[in-house]
Amino acid sequence: MNISELLAFDRAHIWHPYTSTLDPLPVFPVSSAEGVRIRLADGRELIDGMSSWWAAIHGYNHPVLNAAIEAQLHQMSHIMFGGLTHEPAVSLVSKLLPLLPPSMDKVFLADSGSVAVEVAMKMAIQYWQSRGRKAKYHFATIRSGYHGDTWHAMSVCDPVTGMHSLFRGALPIQYFLPQPSVRFHEAWDASAMHPLEELLQAHASDIAALILEPIVQGAGGMYFYSPQYLVEAARLCRAYDVLLIFDEIATGFGRTGKLFAWEWAQVEPDIMCVGKALTGGYMTLSAVATTQPIADWICAGEAGCFMHGPTFMGNPLACAVASASISLLLSYDWQGTIQRIEAQLQQELAPASCLPSVREVRVLGAIGVIEMREPVDMAKLQQRFVDAGIWVRPFGRLVYVMPPYVIRPDELSYLTSNLIKCL
Ligand code: PMP
Repeated sequence: MNISELLAFDRAHIWHPYTSTLDPLPVFPVSSAEGVRIRLADGRELIDGMSSWWAAIHGYNHPVLNAAIEAQLHQMSHIMFGGLTHEPAVSLVSKLLPLLPPSMDKVFLADSGSVAVEVAMKMAIQYWQSRGRKAKYHFATIRSGYHGDTWHAMSVCDPVTGMHSLFRGALPIQYFLPQPSVRFHEAWDASAMHPLEELLQAHASDIAALILEPIVQGAGGMYFYSPQYLVEAARLCRAYDVLLIFDEIATGFGRTGKLFAWEWAQVEPDIMCVGKALTGGYMTLSAVATTQPIADWICAGEAGCFMHGPTFMGNPLACAVASASISLLLSYDWQGTIQRIEAQLQQELAPASCLPSVREVRVLGAIGVIEMREPVDMAKLQQRFVDAGIWVRPFGRLVYVMPPYVIRPDELSYLTSNLIKCL
């Protein structure tokens, strides 16, 4: 198939994320990717600003990750996890657990971020069932959040920018709190907790858990909020018998400047989800961790076990590459690298705030956000970015970059300067 045949077939038959089949947005065929460079089928190269949606932290085609997956391929690519176990899964969980909050003790390996959120929510409900609190099956969350596209994950996404209106009547009803009013660098204001306190006073008896993306709200708003919100939320959850779930699927593995975002507040959740960069962006895999007491309660209940077990659970290829990705991350000064990227993003994106179309520029860790006043014309801007040799995927009013950590200063400057030029 030549490139135009490939594109014609794709346009005629293949669905892309959030696109119409009636008039699909253009897509660009990729032939390979290496480090921070994405090579298009027509030979052009783009500097990657997206890490394939937070995932490819070590860049593409990394020799260490390739070697791990190749070695595993020759042992077995997959084997069912029911009744069997294997070294890649054990090795991964033994490396992951010491990086998570100290109280985390039991890990469930799931297929994707959305499924991890479903698993976390099911854990919370089974926990309260076992404790005889069967009315506790609703969830609370904050507006502008994003937790995935599957059913219950979708129910805790922002009700306006999410898909609630489309599925009204069918989607479970959850409790939505305002977005935390105190931003990341702002002085704390205790009134920020009033909405949560009022909600828990009135409804804790039917709420299983509060689910949050700690510190950084990703796809729902690219918003950075005060770590103190997590401290206070944890205190209120404990006081009102509500579990706390941290969705660290986007924030995990160094992206915010800490290995995991909970560390900004030193607040431990009851259940925590990780995904995306878990495998260095090589394969889909997620993990849900919880404490021993919660796991024990779940399994002491009516079912006698946790009721979930996907076909590809603990996939050995994914576990092997995840294990290698964690070792790779810990093998160098990742924190210094993120600080360098943060400083450079701060300096080089700042001029964008002078553009009349720009509302705000904000940076945290290796995340740079340019919030526009109006939603961007995605097709037009995407083409302009590609013509300028960069890969950035805007969304609504948000134009943001979260490059692979291996990006060199000159490559990052190329990315930021061309980004601003295109805007
Ligand atoms: N939670 C968060 C915070 C996310 O950013 C995402 C993905 N953007 C998900 C959950 C869902 O993950 P996945 O796309 O792997 O299902």
